[in-house]
Amino acid sequence: MDSGMDWHAARAALEWQVELGATDAIQDTPVNRFEAAPPAPARAQAPAAAPAAHTPEDDPIAEAEAAAAGAQDLGALKAAMAAYPHCDLRRGARNLVFADGVPGAPVMIVGEAPGRDEDREGRPFVGRAGQFLDRMLDAIGRKRDAESAGHAVYITNVLPWRPPQNRTPTAQEIAMLLPFLRRHVTLARPRILVLMGNASCQALLGRSGITRLRGHWDEALGLPALPMFHPAYLLRNPQAKREAWADLLELQARLRGAG
Ligand code: URA
Repeated sequence: MDSGMDWHAARAALEWQVELGATDAIQDTPVNRFEAAPPAPARAQAPAAAPAAHTPEDDPIAEAEAAAAGAQDLGALKAAMAAYPHCDLRRGARNLVFADGVPGAPVMIVGEAPGRDEDREGRPFVGRAGQFLDRMLDAIGRKRDAESAGHAVYITNVLPWRPPQNRTPTAQEIAMLLPFLRRHVTLARPRILVLMGNASCQALLGRSGITRLRGHWDEALGLPALPMFHPAYLLRNPQAKREAWADLLELQARLRGAG
């Protein structure tokens, strides 16, 4: 059906419905708005430079690597990501979700991708799963806003933009944004990585299967890495909280040992 609305009017109408609490689009046939729509007006919180013009010959991964390598601090990395033009997710997102917590904290948590609340606020893990993550961290004396970096955590995601309908990140999206994640870890300088769920295991270990991976120390980017169940999974599967608790204790023991 052709509603006769232009793209901006359709977007405003959709945002109004979202404000009213609509969470899913229901229609007989799916509409690929990424194909139909012009780029969304810039809404990111980050002071993003306008995306550079690009041609089909560009290699998005090589471009991401060059942009990431050029970033000398976390602010520059965030700006480089905001200026990166190749990932279509940016067009449907309200905000670039970069990180939260204390850079330099001994633990860096890597989640999957922003959901609706994170997209709205521009901060990772602020919705239900995030509140549960905060309680998990609290139980081992860690906080994202702890005054002393030693008791703090730093949190980011594999993808900085919300995938539509919170779908799982594609292999292509992960590959394209991985250079930024690698650089993020280098610049944040954690001693330990916590890989929350399959997407971050896939990105940083090259494999998934969180039920088997969880609780076993691995190595990613030269750092000890502990795969754990994602807090959203734990909310849906409370019986798995026992294993998550064991993993938290394991993390705490390692952090104490690491000084
Ligand atoms: N789930 C994630 O993996 N990351 C977020 O930021 C929020 C929910």
